[in-house]
Amino acid sequence: TEEMLLKSEKLSLVGELAAGLAHEIRNPLTTIKGLVQVLQETTEDKKVVYSDIILTEIDRINYIVSEFMVLAKPHAIYFTECSLTDILKKVIYLLEAEANLKNVVIINDFNDEDVILYGEKNQLTQVFVNLLKNAMEALPNGGIIRVSTSLVKDKVRISIEDNGVGMTEEQVKKIGEPFYTTKATGTGLGLMVSYKIIQNHKGSISVKSELNKGTTFDITFPLIENNAMNTYSTTNK
Ligand code: ADP
Ligand code: MG
Repeated sequence: TEEMLLKSEKLSLVGELAAGLAHEIRNPLTTIKGLVQVLQETTEDKKVVYSDIILTEIDRINYIVSEFMVLAKPHAIYFTECSLTDILKKVIYLLEAEANLKNVVIINDFNDEDVILYGEKNQLTQVFVNLLKNAMEALPNGGIIRVSTSLVKDKVRISIEDNGVGMTEEQVKKIGEPFYTTKATGTGLGLMVSYKIIQNHKGSISVKSELNKGTTFDITFPLIENNAMNTYSTTNK
């Protein structure tokens, strides 16, 4: 049998992605180039300001490129048994200081009974960092983010709920498209990368959102053994 390997929709998607990537990287590069030229002829006090902008722009390029690495073939990614509770606790710990500053309260609504997933810990961590950061950014005046887990058949569901700005139906349709962002300094890559990681882990993601009310993302992952709840006693860790 023969299969058409060059599917035109697929190729046009690659083209769009490449064009978007080139654009996103060229913008900060243009800024950097301009500022370096100015730096050569500038006074001392401005040097600090311009160097700061240059470093920020270099960080942005680095960030964009590293987000795209996740989309590349997962050649050196090792799946292991991961504790979901450990991952969620770590993510909340990482973001707690920033949340405090922004008057955001993160409620940990998952119990101590642990769930073990088969996956890549750093990638799974990245998904929850992305989702919690988005939730935090949806709460410019502070608010509440609730992180909860529940078992649904042979899967575990993680819900991340915020009472923030919410989204319109049109927005909901667009999220996850590369470079789609409504934020001044957003990249519009966080959800795309998260979707890809979730797909790599045979999981699913869905969203409910209402403008000015809030947003809930539900993520599910298969449990390590079908129909089995994996409980670890806390004294074992
Ligand atoms: P970025 O955060 O850089 O904008 P993302 O891919 O993480 O990129 O998110 C894309 C867009 O989805 C955001 O700009 C925002 O408009 C929307 N979004 C994502 N999460 C939420 C949320 N919890 N509440 C409201 N809008 C959200
Ligand atoms: Mg984001």
